[in-house]
Amino acid sequence: MKRLHNHINGRFVAPTGGAWIDNVNPATGAVISQIARSTSADVDAAVAAGRAALDGAWGRSSAAERADLLDAIASGIEARLAEFAEAESADNGKPVHLAAAVDIPRAISNFRFFAGAVRHDHTGCHTTPGVINYTLRKPVGMAALITPWNLPLYLLTWKLAPALGMGNVTIAKPSELTPTTATLLAEVFASIGAPAGIYNLLHGYGPEVGAPMVAHPDIRAVSFTGGTVTGAHVAAAAAPKFKKLSLELGGKNATLVFADCDFEETVKGAARAAFLNQGQICLCGSRILVDDAIYDRFVEALVAEVSAMKVGDPTDPDVSLGALISQGHRDKVEGYLRLAVEEGGTIRCGGERLDGPGAFITPAVITDLESTCRTATEEIFGPVVTVHRFSTEAEAIEKANQVRYGLAASVWTADLRRAHRVSAALATGMVWVNTWLLRDLRVPFGGVKDSGVGREGGHYSLEFFSESQNICVKL
Ligand code: NAD
Repeated sequence: MKRLHNHINGRFVAPTGGAWIDNVNPATGAVISQIARSTSADVDAAVAAGRAALDGAWGRSSAAERADLLDAIASGIEARLAEFAEAESADNGKPVHLAAAVDIPRAISNFRFFAGAVRHDHTGCHTTPGVINYTLRKPVGMAALITPWNLPLYLLTWKLAPALGMGNVTIAKPSELTPTTATLLAEVFASIGAPAGIYNLLHGYGPEVGAPMVAHPDIRAVSFTGGTVTGAHVAAAAAPKFKKLSLELGGKNATLVFADCDFEETVKGAARAAFLNQGQICLCGSRILVDDAIYDRFVEALVAEVSAMKVGDPTDPDVSLGALISQGHRDKVEGYLRLAVEEGGTIRCGGERLDGPGAFITPAVITDLESTCRTATEEIFGPVVTVHRFSTEAEAIEKANQVRYGLAASVWTADLRRAHRVSAALATGMVWVNTWLLRDLRVPFGGVKDSGVGREGGHYSLEFFSESQNICVKL
């Protein structure tokens, strides 16, 4: 059985405790590898490696050298793109074609984008007669990067690239459910001769290895993407040590459909927003709010669109949806489908298991629920969308804002003034108008309310992974 080791100080090493965890392919049910079950002793080893790198040549590296390194990593992933995509799919259950078109290219872009950002970064200078203030930007030091299973390499590299670009050292803890691409990435680091100790990788369970990382006094920044409940634990552990903290958490995002929208485009857009990556994206539009005037026609068209989505073997280039992350997660999704019926909902399509060992379920559209019920307000994080009516713009905004989350929303309308007005009234970190998941890596990414704290992207990431020092000189 293939074993995925930790990667500490540029070397692949077994976990100190000698224990391993089975890694299951959720589309087949087969154990495909074992991963290191790390503990706080492994955290200590990774911290020591990081410290040595910071004290060595890496700590004196120039931005240009680090930008070149990021570009070399990008090229190293690109040269193995197909292998990365297959590994991501085998761990996660997502279609290989999706990983090859979205996950892995985005990981490559993350490195290239931040290479450019670091090359062009600059700091401020404030002058008054006889006085000059200037700002130095220094690395924070050691950063913990803790990431979820839904977009494994995409989200890890979204943190790793700016962290390294700003001169930090990192300890990465990918989800125990999707460990492989982070390991392949360590091979890329080795193959290009990257300095040892800048990308330390620890596999294992959150409470056993993630928690000691968050608690470790030498780790000065924690960048966490995952569930809101876990985020609260991370925040509570990091706060007394005054660490820099970035939390990208859950979502229950609204898709607002006004009667004047481009109907065909909106039906396709809303379906994509609900079900891309099996509905397992924090940004997925899992609540569709539809203008009364087009509600019946919209639901009919949406059900037709979603019913036509092919679910199955992730290696099939024609599937729209692969497997969910695990059997346990499918059980959770099915629990919500039962709850939806108890709450008075009508399942218009989907929610059916496929025969066989894989964690497959067809995408479900649910109507007739109150917008305040549990199904419509709790994060399901699977292929389930609820559809609700509104009759006025104010009611649409009120319903969109009535959840504890505030990550993203999309607004579909041909009325430019309405688009701006409604977007500004939404209590979310991000709004898309007549589109969804159209990303520009320079813009602020993050949520409000229970969706998190802080922003990633462009200079927001560069600021998070650095400390600004003001120097005031009397001339
Ligand atoms: P999770 O919170 O269960 O796990 C996330 C990571 O935290 C994993 O690596 C896990 O091992 C680790 N972890 C668990 N307990 C920990 C602890 N006590 N201390 C430190 N680390 C710990 O989340 P998940 O199920 O992997 O991912 C799904 C969730 O992630 C969803 O809620 C989704 O909305 C959210 N998410 C948010 C964003 C965003 O950008 N806002 C992006 C993707 C996913």
